[in-house]
Amino acid sequence: MRRKIKEFRAICEEARVCTICPDLADKTAVLSELNGSLSPKVFFVGEAPGRAGADRTRRPFTGDKSGENLQILLDSIGLSRDDVFFTSAVMCSPRSATDANRKPTRAEVRNCSSYLRRLIELLDPPVVATLGAVGLDALKLIEPHAFTLKEHAGSIQHWNGRVLVPLYHPSPLVIASQRGLDVQLATFRTLKVVLDN
Ligand code: SF4
Repeated sequence: MRRKIKEFRAICEEARVCTICPDLADKTAVLSELNGSLSPKVFFVGEAPGRAGADRTRRPFTGDKSGENLQILLDSIGLSRDDVFFTSAVMCSPRSATDANRKPTRAEVRNCSSYLRRLIELLDPPVVATLGAVGLDALKLIEPHAFTLKEHAGSIQHWNGRVLVPLYHPSPLVIASQRGLDVQLATFRTLKVVLDN
């Protein structure tokens, strides 16, 4: 465990000073022991730190509505934040010209995939759960897959020697416009089935 903590901190420090993405050079990666357990039951991959949420609190999925929605989903299956690790396709917060949240570009996701790959290798989680299409697609850069959110949300898959459960992103926009909380609660029940077996 000491070796794991040391290697994890080395990755965090690399990410902290990383300026590979030109448009994110003034942002700091959200990656530290606040991201969760270093021996997680589930390794969650979201999209990117949000302006009002993780980029401000430095703890993924806290401080904003997405975090509140995710907490409801975690509570619904009795999964504690202490037992999981949260990160995202990109670890710095992408912003538009008006300083609003924006989707990360393909280049930004590609740049950050080396951190994602190293974290998965180091923490070696039995289960990876993606939150949204950007997180699911980011895994393709580590090991190719053909899963899509449209066809595979809430299903049990195998990827990179692990169980993969693609889930929807719990953002208020997604919940209001596409995948309501009831649908998301149903997909989280798949995760519970995986964890109970
Ligand atoms: S998003 Fe990732 S690759 Fe890009 S600057 Fe931040 S830490 Fe570096």
